[in-house]
Amino acid sequence: MKTLLNRFIVILIFILLTASGLYSQTTPYTILISFDGFRWDYTNRGLTPNFDYIEKHGVKALSLKPSFPSITFPNHISIVTGMYPQNHGVIANTMYDPVTDKLYSLRDTAEVRNAYWYKGEMIWETARRQGVITASYFWPGSEMNLEYRRPTYYEKYEHERDYVERINGVINWLKLPYNQQPKFITLYYDLTDSEGHRYGPNSPEVNAAIARLDSLIGFLFKKLDEIKLRDSVNLIIVSDHGMTEISKDRYVNIEEIANCNSCKFFNRGAVMNIFINDKNEVDAVFNKLKRQENHYKVYKPENVPAHFHFNNNHLIGDLFVLSEPGWSVGTTKDKDRMNDYNGGNHGFDNSYIDMHGIFYAIGPSFKENYKTGTIENINIYPLLCKILNIIPKQNIDGKLENISFILKEKE
Ligand code: AMP
Ligand code: ZN
Ligand code: ZN
Repeated sequence: MKTLLNRFIVILIFILLTASGLYSQTTPYTILISFDGFRWDYTNRGLTPNFDYIEKHGVKALSLKPSFPSITFPNHISIVTGMYPQNHGVIANTMYDPVTDKLYSLRDTAEVRNAYWYKGEMIWETARRQGVITASYFWPGSEMNLEYRRPTYYEKYEHERDYVERINGVINWLKLPYNQQPKFITLYYDLTDSEGHRYGPNSPEVNAAIARLDSLIGFLFKKLDEIKLRDSVNLIIVSDHGMTEISKDRYVNIEEIANCNSCKFFNRGAVMNIFINDKNEVDAVFNKLKRQENHYKVYKPENVPAHFHFNNNHLIGDLFVLSEPGWSVGTTKDKDRMNDYNGGNHGFDNSYIDMHGIFYAIGPSFKENYKTGTIENINIYPLLCKILNIIPKQNIDGKLENISFILKEKE
């Protein structure tokens, strides 16, 4: 009996080793880069030779449509979960939870790491459960305070971290012994978003940012060549949203119109979430805002248009305000802030073309010189699962069939 059991264990170990060996040999490495706020048409400015190279030898989508609202954290998390923000839970960069009276803000590191807010399963959790090693050189949601929900290796977000150092960090992970190497790595740069907010999408500063990020792709290629992994790496470059010009002259003071003592206002610019302490006041405030609706729309969550997929989450608030592209909504205090921060913004209707980002991909899994139309960012998670050869989480919003046509067909 004992020898039979021993033999069974030996066979099992053999199968597992063979399977993992096969996995390692046949699955390429995948690096997912996000250039925050890199608008879909920034590569049409003649500043991006490395993007041009990828377009010729890989896949380019006309644009990457963000999920609504077109904001950083909601969209980075849609990309790695395949879910709309209302379903993965991160519906804004700043969120108030009336149930716990807690506030989430991307400047509050403790809350950014608090797993409570993240209801979706991120690609690294799916991968880890299936024995695949992953790594992240920055990505919203990669620093959660639960180990099993994090990438195997990760870096804590540091806005000023040197740009080349980030790539060297990725290369060092790829230089690890074979059985410790990550198969999937993320990398993040804020530059186009930061410059776009400050100077606007059509500024020389944004052009300089575009050129700098493009040259970093060239540097990454060079480093991958040096470690002889260039041909084994899929590189996917995306952005979370685009950018459009705003002006301090196009401002609506929602606080003033609402004129409501029991209202709390969260977020500003393209969207606002209003929580009203006294529920008897909701209709009155709604009616006031509705009557003066000009360059913005006000909704009760259940009436937000269906194509936004943004009705069903208690963090949306009692009322939700969305401004017309190029306009800003906010409080009296927010208006003052517009004096020094009024170049560009995002967060608007995700169908508005200025809100669209980029999708480029090159490597052994992808077709060459293949151009597709607009792709929705919820489809990236199932694509990554396919490339990594892992089973995706069920009941997500993205679908592999909406994106799998960019993959090389298997013989
Ligand atoms: P926003 O333009 O407000 O939608 O957000 C962009 C900002 O998000 C960037 O300038 C970064 O400072 C910040 N950010 C991006 N990734 C992270 C992260 N992983 N942790 C904390 N903050 C981040
Ligand atoms: Zn962003
Ligand atoms: Zn931004």
